[in-house]
Amino acid sequence: MEKFDVVIIGSGPGASSCAYPLKKSGLRVAVIERRLFGGTCPNDGCDPKKVLLAPLEAQAAGEALVDFGVKVAGEVDFSQAAAFKKSFTDPVSKNTKKGFNAAGIKTFFGQANFLDAHTILVDKEKIEAEKFIIATGAHSNLPKFPGSEFLKTSTDFLALEKLPKKIIIIGAGYIAFELAHLAAGFGSEVTILNRSSQALKGFDSKLADEYIALFKKNQGQYLVDIDVEKIVEKDGRFLVTGGDFSGQADFVLSATGRPANTDLGLEKAGVTFNKKGIVVNEFLQTNQPHIFALGDVLDKKQAKLTPVSSFEGNYIAQFLLGHSEPIAYPAIPTVLFAREKLAQVGTVAADSKIINMTHWYTAARIKEEKALVKLSFNADKTLLGAAVLSRNAEELINFFAIAIDEKWTSETLAKKIFAYPTIASDLDYFLQ
Ligand SMILES: Cc1cc2nc3c(=O)[nH]c(=O)nc-3n(C[C@H](O)[C@H](O)[C@H](O)COP(=O)(O)OP(=O)(O)OC[C@H]3O[C@@H](n4cnc5c(N)ncnc54)[C@H](O)[C@@H]3O)c2cc1C
Repeated sequence: MEKFDVVIIGSGPGASSCAYPLKKSGLRVAVIERRLFGGTCPNDGCDPKKVLLAPLEAQAAGEALVDFGVKVAGEVDFSQAAAFKKSFTDPVSKNTKKGFNAAGIKTFFGQANFLDAHTILVDKEKIEAEKFIIATGAHSNLPKFPGSEFLKTSTDFLALEKLPKKIIIIGAGYIAFELAHLAAGFGSEVTILNRSSQALKGFDSKLADEYIALFKKNQGQYLVDIDVEKIVEKDGRFLVTGGDFSGQADFVLSATGRPANTDLGLEKAGVTFNKKGIVVNEFLQTNQPHIFALGDVLDKKQAKLTPVSSFEGNYIAQFLLGHSEPIAYPAIPTVLFAREKLAQVGTVAADSKIINMTHWYTAARIKEEKALVKLSFNADKTLLGAAVLSRNAEELINFFAIAIDEKWTSETLAKKIFAYPTIASDLDYFLQ
């Protein structure tokens, strides 16, 4: 039986960020993966999604400036974009595994299952370790109702080579809207069905409403209070029904959450977990002190995002190498990537006023349809949180994240010079 100092289960961004520093410090490290090395983000998440978005961003930028220097807005083609996306995703698994092996990290391919608290079984091979790090991520939820076997996931959507004509998306989180925007942008007729009237949890509700209004105006249908009850297949098409709703589609996508991957014999290892994921303490230790867990598999209040998994992976590596402080998360920015980006960091009070920057130079120059910001401040005038709706939101939100962590004020900005005219040079107007 092979023995290691540390065995990491899963090979996503969280796993990578602990595997390398642990190996570098001289430990014997192994990584186990059952599907694609690299995990969700580069294979079927953030990265392919944003490659597909690039042509739509280019088109939107052109469209906004028609009659203001652009004569004809660009035409987009899904099959070309899908082929471009594949050039990013195809090499990921092979290259990730190669990277691990080149660094001396042993890789195993197959489903990992604990046999006991110190032994793992992978494809008939038993592996023993002093420490384990569970980094198994999450998977798309597929609700159960008659015909739910026809439901597709975000992974299926991001693997499409041809775009279906009509798409129904069930769910109203950021992934539902991002994929709806991609589909609509490339020419699909899109309907989002939301079982409640609350959407885009985790984002400021006023800016989320503004985003949804833009979505409905420019991209697709958004219907609330619809609980899908049934899907019936006929000649390769699907009839979706629920309450008063009845609609046909060529592709029905479930974007109803991402439950944690806890199917690895945790009971045999005596590791505590629940429906939301694995429970850990402030050192990311499970109830078995030699078994750690990180990333999307956790039951945690932090957003389940790539940089958060990486931060946690890096924390566990430092902890195992002697650092003894509890984990302290910085501000975590989150972005809905579409034509207009919706972004959030920190805490934004519902009654904070909306700053309309649509007519400011930065937004007016590119003819933004709507550019809005909401900010909340602490009593000492440092930033508590920010929400942004704008084509520039993905960059602006990072500056706000730094401002929160570093406790920037107008005095801090007075000591800095940012290139002008840029998003950063607008910070002067925001920080009091
Ligand atoms: C469509 C989509 C879009 C997203 N967009 C963004 C974005 O824009 N920005 C962002 O920050 N995040 C985004 N995310 C979330 C991001 O992908 C995840 O937060 C991130 O990948 C989590 O990293 P992880 O290391 O915790 O787990 P993962 O990356 O999920 O890796 C877990 C790995 O463990 C493997 N595994 C599971 N169980 C076992 C087992 N028993 N044995 C062996 N291997 C196992 C899995 O196959 C998987 O490869 C998106 C996700 C999706 C689905």
